[in-house]
Amino acid sequence: MKIVSDFDGVLTDLTEEGHRVREILREELLRVSGRKPAQVDQWLAFADAELDRNPHLHGWKVRGRVTAFANEDLFIRNNGLASCLELWAARDEHGLADLKGALEREGFADFNAFANHCYGMMLKETQAGQIKPIDPQTRGMIEALLGAGHELVVVSNSGTQRILEIFASGGIQAVSHDQDPRARFRVRGGAMKFELGDVSRGFEVGAYFVETSRPHYERILEEERPGAVIGDVFSLDLALPLHLARTRGSAFEGMRLFLRGRHYTPVWSREKVLGSREPAAKLRVLGELSELPAAISE
Ligand SMILES: [Mg+2]
Repeated sequence: MKIVSDFDGVLTDLTEEGHRVREILREELLRVSGRKPAQVDQWLAFADAELDRNPHLHGWKVRGRVTAFANEDLFIRNNGLASCLELWAARDEHGLADLKGALEREGFADFNAFANHCYGMMLKETQAGQIKPIDPQTRGMIEALLGAGHELVVVSNSGTQRILEIFASGGIQAVSHDQDPRARFRVRGGAMKFELGDVSRGFEVGAYFVETSRPHYERILEEERPGAVIGDVFSLDLALPLHLARTRGSAFEGMRLFLRGRHYTPVWSREKVLGSREPAAKLRVLGELSELPAAISE
């Protein structure tokens, strides 16, 4: 079977990287704003409280729409904080218009660009070996999958080079899709699963409207036609495959969809997967990565 797997949060533990982005965000806000720590911490506390109050309204925004929700992983939490501050700055709430001006003088178009800058600073620390995010179960799991004759394609928003380097740090040899598109184990980075189409399409999970119009990811899924998809963020990784299984008939029907449960996985996405009676797909929450090789065959 061909398996499409997400990278960050599935084959890595992103806890340390996620916390580090948050620290950098705070340090950079202090630097750019020139304000006292108490002020910066208050802005962040206000934004955290709003994200907790209305998680279905906040997250990683693309074209003004939420592409993944602030409570789905620790990276997206930081995107959610930034877009919340952006919203308030536009209305000059909490004195944030001044901070937006300061960001612009530093060359940032908006808070989201600033958050991307902070994320990029973290990536350099990982690249330098200061953070080692590879999940200890990844190598054994990949060996078991390949040994059983399966194919594994890592499809991720992260860059291919970052993924290959982190694999290498864990003693795992992979090739890029560009180098060898027929390899049984290959990496398709820069997948832009977050990018949304012009016209919104999706479905509701309680208060959450989950977008399935993801043209870049859809093109990759069409090319790969996987039998299974695994991800740790329901919106980014699994919502579109589920939509395809429901609507495209035999090409995607019966697809196995695995949500890799992590300490940050929200109740809503966990329950959506656990409680699903989907005739078109088989959904399951994976507590451990090592469960995957056996779960594929069930
Ligand atoms: Mg992920």
